[in-house]
Amino acid sequence: MTDLHQLVIDGELSASATGETFESIDPSTGESFAHVAKAGAEDVKRAAEAARKAFDEGPWPRMRGRDRAKALLAVADGIKKHAPDLAELESRDSGGTIRKAQNADIGMAISTFRFYSELASREDEEEPLLPRSPMSYNYLRREPIGVCAAIAPWNAPLQMASWKIAPAIAAGNTVILKPASFTPLTSIEVGKICLEAGIPEGVVNVLPGPGAAAGEELVASPLVDKVAFTGSTEIGMRIMQIASGTVKKVTLELGGKSPSIVLDDVDLDYAVDGALWGVFFHQGQICSAGTRLFLQRGIHDDFFAALVKRAEELKVGPALDPGSDQGPLVARTQLETVERYVEIGREEGAEVAAGGERATVPGHQGGFYYRPTILAGVNNSMRVAQEEIFGPVLAVIPFEDDDEAVRLANESIYGLAGAVWSRNVPRAVQIAERLRAGTVWINDYHMINPRYPFGGYKESGIGREHGTLGFNEYREAKHIHVDLAGGRDRHPWWNTVLG
Ligand code: NDP
Repeated sequence: MTDLHQLVIDGELSASATGETFESIDPSTGESFAHVAKAGAEDVKRAAEAARKAFDEGPWPRMRGRDRAKALLAVADGIKKHAPDLAELESRDSGGTIRKAQNADIGMAISTFRFYSELASREDEEEPLLPRSPMSYNYLRREPIGVCAAIAPWNAPLQMASWKIAPAIAAGNTVILKPASFTPLTSIEVGKICLEAGIPEGVVNVLPGPGAAAGEELVASPLVDKVAFTGSTEIGMRIMQIASGTVKKVTLELGGKSPSIVLDDVDLDYAVDGALWGVFFHQGQICSAGTRLFLQRGIHDDFFAALVKRAEELKVGPALDPGSDQGPLVARTQLETVERYVEIGREEGAEVAAGGERATVPGHQGGFYYRPTILAGVNNSMRVAQEEIFGPVLAVIPFEDDDEAVRLANESIYGLAGAVWSRNVPRAVQIAERLRAGTVWINDYHMINPRYPFGGYKESGIGREHGTLGFNEYREAKHIHVDLAGGRDRHPWWNTVLG
């Protein structure tokens, strides 16, 4: 049996209270490659108590921001030090290509801890933000919320661990991270790196375990003050319901069906590659993926032909092979979901112009591979244009003019992200400002940066991650009023009671 990947609770690694474990599957082979301690109710209770104690009595929330900042920098350094091993583990556990893990995931994890270190270090210098008054001195104080439960999806586990842990602890909170059951391993490693970096016991806890049990226990726990969730809209709704029982603060980063709009004045070769990058990054398993491609009629046929040709050139292969452009999907169930949706598309009248079937990868017959797929003949009301597939499937839809592009793009329950491709930047900006989405890229895609806010309109979520907006989602705002008026006669409102 392989080594057991343990829970991180109260500054220590431990097995689960029941001794139960689960297997993590390598999606490139379909075989188990790791055993993981499975957190249950008793472990959630122990982690919540440890995080509560660390918040109520421990040094972390009381430290100066600049001291917390040093610890966050040490975590960033730890991730850098362990980068080769972390990248390999991320790639094996999630099926993301090694090129993605090395170039995107590691860099993003490091820069997220560095950015929040910077914000923590500036905390001590923050100015009072409130309007002046002649009768009183008023100032705003930002304080940590308390114990944060962070629940993460499987698509980008290392990035998600950093997106959740870094802002929470930078603000002085304590945190319990529950990674997705498909991809628990690098989250546990980040928990261990936090301990190595000297973050006090109980401040960072990592609890792999089933969402329906460990996840719900966390959300319901009266010891938890805030829930930060990334995942499906369906589970986000469930979390809001459970969290309402104790009126917890909730931030939600949920699903998407983001539009990528190509105008007829575009640089064609550049935008073809951009659209492919927008949809097929990580096999389409990205919440902000540009899965609806709107092509203006004038360039439609040329663009479409080039798009199909380039998609067919993408090499599908094992995640750890640096030659692979596309790895496997995360799990057999996800592969089956994608297959089902392509079938639904066919039944709705869409035409499969590329892909539309499993990919065969020699020597890796058990892996969960699917060819990059392009659907033509789609209209925006079909299920394949409205429902999140979370796989390598692009729906292509023609449009006549800018007004129609905006209308179609906004016809969605989601509003996470989108892109406009054009040589005419003022025209693209006008469209970007009319889209109902939390992020719009012009002539680019997936440029998520810890400095800039990210989150959804409509059913794509509540609140923002990243930037100072994301930081404030982990802080309470306290108004302190100091009377300057003095003297009983300067307080006429008191007369309403005292006469
Ligand atoms: P899920 O919503 O199924 O799961 C997300 C997390 O929630 C997992 O850790 C899961 O645990 C846990 N969970 C499941 N059920 C419950 C429950 N009843 N109570 C508490 N926690 C629970 O999403 P996926 O992991 O399948 O991720 C894909 C989805 O995430 C997509 O819809 C995608 O759009 C969205 N997503 C959004 C992002 C954004 O930033 N907006 C980023 C990435 C993904 P377990 O794994 O054990 O089931």
